[in-house]
Amino acid sequence: MIRCPYCAEMLQIQVDLSAGDQNYIEDCQVCCQPIQLSCTIDNFRLVSVDAQCST
Ligand SMILES: [Zn+2]
Repeated sequence: MIRCPYCAEMLQIQVDLSAGDQNYIEDCQVCCQPIQLSCTIDNFRLVSVDAQCST
């Protein structure tokens, strides 16, 4: 779960744990703003997710 930096809604995200660390942009499901996600994955486990405004 992440918190949208724009509208503060909690969002469920899908992360491919087999692909390692990931940085990508996903549109908020509530306010449709682009969220920059930084996912840290260690040994196929999601360690941390950082959600920031993409601009
Ligand atoms: Zn939002």
